[in-house]
Amino acid sequence: MTQLLLTDISKLYRISTQGEAFKKGTDMADAAMLESAYVYIVDDTIKAVGSMATLQPRAYRGAERIDCKGKLVLPGFVDSHTHLVFPKTREQEFVYRLKGMSYEEIARKGGGILNSAKSLAHISEEQLLEETIERAKEIMGFGTTTVEIKSGYGLTVESELKLLRVANALKEHVPLNIKTTFLGAHAIPANYKNDRQQYIDLVCDVMLPQVVDQNLAEFIDVFCDEGFFTVEETEYIIKKGAKYGLGAKIHANELAFSGGVQVGVKCNAISVDHLERSGPDEIEALVGSTTVPTLLPSVAYFLGIDYGPAREMMEAGLPVTLATDYNPGSSPGGSMPFVMSLACTHMNMLPEEALCASTLNGAWALRMSEKVGSIEPGKQADLVVTQPLDSFARIPYSYASNLIDRVMIKGEWV
Ligand SMILES: [Zn+2]
Repeated sequence: MTQLLLTDISKLYRISTQGEAFKKGTDMADAAMLESAYVYIVDDTIKAVGSMATLQPRAYRGAERIDCKGKLVLPGFVDSHTHLVFPKTREQEFVYRLKGMSYEEIARKGGGILNSAKSLAHISEEQLLEETIERAKEIMGFGTTTVEIKSGYGLTVESELKLLRVANALKEHVPLNIKTTFLGAHAIPANYKNDRQQYIDLVCDVMLPQVVDQNLAEFIDVFCDEGFFTVEETEYIIKKGAKYGLGAKIHANELAFSGGVQVGVKCNAISVDHLERSGPDEIEALVGSTTVPTLLPSVAYFLGIDYGPAREMMEAGLPVTLATDYNPGSSPGGSMPFVMSLACTHMNMLPEEALCASTLNGAWALRMSEKVGSIEPGKQADLVVTQPLDSFARIPYSYASNLIDRVMIKGEWV
């Protein structure tokens, strides 16, 4: 049995204290912060949390003490939307875009998702895993302790399975909590352009049964947007996934008012993600539903498009969630602190709201809030210890500094 006692924590951001699964709207601003606090951990579990004034040192005699004087302790960040397994960065397309080339022109030069799909066919599974391990270590350094990883750069049976095998194999190499999502419906490959249904059948009737058989994914995702999959196609694919018990997450409303949000709500999707193109109709559809709105502000930053209406969503009482969408095309970065900074500077969120959206609400978007997302007795010991700081606001404020001192996953420092 390993016992740890983090003492003299200047500010402990618990996020929740009553085992709430998520927080919504204005409740998100209350980070349940405790000054001068301690956290007691046994093996991988948080056993007690309290104020230093009430600490009974004798009760924790066998524990290793870790002095956190001046420092903040936060729940580990939950990045509920990434494409962490990908074959190659695409900076050449970035330069084309800077030179004024349109998305279509770049696609004609072999760019976009189909570019990644081509590279993926040529990379070995070992190399793909090696590169993914490096990326995983990088995001742990930014404070991420739980990550969702999607397939979607394969677009063939073999390559989609390869991506998901690598995402699952990653669990053996890094301590991150990992959830996987099957996104065979990320784009229509060029050779199916004239017969979309044939590709959709391949996704639903060939790939999906194998993904389930080999236990490679827990969720299914569809890119429901202009130029990708229609609302009808999305519903068809999501329902096929539901037959196998896969919860749905949808790429919705990034490029257009696509109806992706509405179809997500209709199908009881766990989350609808992106939402850069959302207005009152989308918000109204989400109110009263169980579907979580997940915003990805680093996509808006990198592509120079509109940011999602986070403030309006919170005012409507929605449980806004934040994630990086780490991928080689539209968000080539996996820093949750940077995402939180963008949420504050461009989406009008308060620092504590951004923190809740990046911890507890992210956990809910992965159906993991019983285990992670807040600092409460009974939860897994996934923590971020910062450098000495006055308050959490310093993290989104100093957007280019890494102010994280140490990261703990399952009770062990990483
Ligand atoms: Zn994505």
